[in-house]
Amino acid sequence: MPSPTTINLPRSYTAKFPPRCVVCRAHSPDSTVSVWTWSIGWWTWVLLWWGMPVRVKAPACYRCAWRLQFSRFAGVVISGLLIWIMFQFCFEPIKARVPRGLLKYAMLIPGLIAVLPYIVFQTFFPPPFETTAMSDSIDYAFRDEDDAIDFAMINSDAAWVKVEGTPI
Ligand SMILES: [Zn+2]
Repeated sequence: MPSPTTINLPRSYTAKFPPRCVVCRAHSPDSTVSVWTWSIGWWTWVLLWWGMPVRVKAPACYRCAWRLQFSRFAGVVISGLLIWIMFQFCFEPIKARVPRGLLKYAMLIPGLIAVLPYIVFQTFFPPPFETTAMSDSIDYAFRDEDDAIDFAMINSDAAWVKVEGTPI
């Protein structure tokens, strides 16, 4: 099972990428892909609020960029659809039993159950490249370990570089 290698860099740092497509690994790709990600922090869970989106620009072939964007978009649509279907079944029964102030937290549970198949799918078939923004850092996850290591090396001038959580 391929598990992505995660490199963590400061959020204020603009990451550099090796001149390789982040999808197919072709050298000197003709385009870039903008990967948008939402900030995740403790407030995400408390307030159900995702912070300011962060854009990471990575090298990619024109076609690969579209493919990556399409699969990310499809992921959002599929997750949204699964949550919507689940809510059709769960909203009324939960609303009848849970105090009003706690309703949005109670709805998190069926929401998470709904997207579970998608999360499992992503675990077994991770995207070639993915980012996650935290309050002061960004995770760059590469399906290919060599790409991840090259990326870590090229960004060694950042305040910190963590490979799988370990500073190098
Ligand atoms: Zn490519």
